[in-house]
Amino acid sequence: MRFREPLLGGSAAMPGASLQRACRLLVAVCALHLGVTLVYYLAGRDLSRLPYLVGVPTPLQAGSSGAAAIKQPSEELRPQGAAPPSPVDASSEPRRGQDSSPEADFRPGLSNNLTSALVSPITALPLPACPEESPLLVGPMLIEFKVPVDLTLLAKQNPEVKVGGRYAPKDCISPHKVAIIIPFRNRQEHLKYWLYYLHPILQRQQLDYGIYVINQAGDSMFNRAKLLNVGFQEALKDYDYNCFVFSDVDLIPMDDRNTYRCFSQPRHISVAMDKFGFSLPYVQFFGGVSALSKQQFLTINGFPNNYWGWGGEDDDIFNRLVFKGMSISRPNAVVGKCRMIRHSRDKKNEPNPQRFDRIAHTKETMFSDGLNTLTYKVLDIERNPLYTKITVDVGTPS
Ligand code: BGC
Repeated sequence: MRFREPLLGGSAAMPGASLQRACRLLVAVCALHLGVTLVYYLAGRDLSRLPYLVGVPTPLQAGSSGAAAIKQPSEELRPQGAAPPSPVDASSEPRRGQDSSPEADFRPGLSNNLTSALVSPITALPLPACPEESPLLVGPMLIEFKVPVDLTLLAKQNPEVKVGGRYAPKDCISPHKVAIIIPFRNRQEHLKYWLYYLHPILQRQQLDYGIYVINQAGDSMFNRAKLLNVGFQEALKDYDYNCFVFSDVDLIPMDDRNTYRCFSQPRHISVAMDKFGFSLPYVQFFGGVSALSKQQFLTINGFPNNYWGWGGEDDDIFNRLVFKGMSISRPNAVVGKCRMIRHSRDKKNEPNPQRFDRIAHTKETMFSDGLNTLTYKVLDIERNPLYTKITVDVGTPS
């Protein structure tokens, strides 16, 4: 007898054929089930890791709204009398409140041995590009400078940071190859706070970065802009950086959505400093922390070399950018909030009386003073666990 099998949609067939088809379907479902079970088992039965292994963000990681669940209160929101975590004993990872759930312990990028054993064969495939906006950001952060930082402990808390202060995300390829250049002299305590706060932030921002502290040797007048030129040139000897963030050693962002990367226009990063009441002191202000792509930096012939002492060099840089037809990109005043470590004026960094005159002539001087006339002597290069320190002789005012 011939009949149609309505459920399996078969054409005219023997009953045995329908049964065969049903069995095949059952076997396929079982195989799928087995495969999925195996992946869960190998991942230590922690389901929250699975999306990470296959590159799909979990709800906690996804976007700014997801990140809200793990945001830290800003200092203004902190309950009165509540003690802040100490830099020495607090984890340098994103703080996640009192949550002791397994998810609270999950630190993307810091995998345990079991996970890395599983990840290796998967990551042998080409890594995906990092997302446009990192899913790891937490938003506003508590920043304060009360407890001294222990650098040895800090290095342990940042195991993914390689010698010299180099880091690149393990799970994706960042297009932002950023050299962070810090002009420096005698500010070791400030540098420790900077490293304490910035390393976790930069990792969460999924940047491929390196930290360069450019230390001016001797005790002649300080020259910030020339040290920044040196940093640009020296960092490029290490790696093919395509972006340069120039940061004072005493400035810390208060929100990790203020990304330390480059944009299509030069970026001013420290737009709302506590010192200036969390706003710009004047619209052309380009001091503190700024970011220029390699191309933007080359277009303006780098920075001036002849601003000795405090002030004016950042205004000159602003002028150079404007004269070359660029405009300044900035985060908003909420994301752009940052704290400055209070300190008295450094010796040999008194205000430069010539700065007003020099700023008035940027257009005429910018191509006869800059990267093309830069001279200096490297005296020492230290590759420390969390940063590279380059000590240079930059000469004296001529
Ligand atoms: C100086 C700048 C400085 C700014 C804010 C200006 O007068 O020329 O170098 O960044 O003040 O302090």
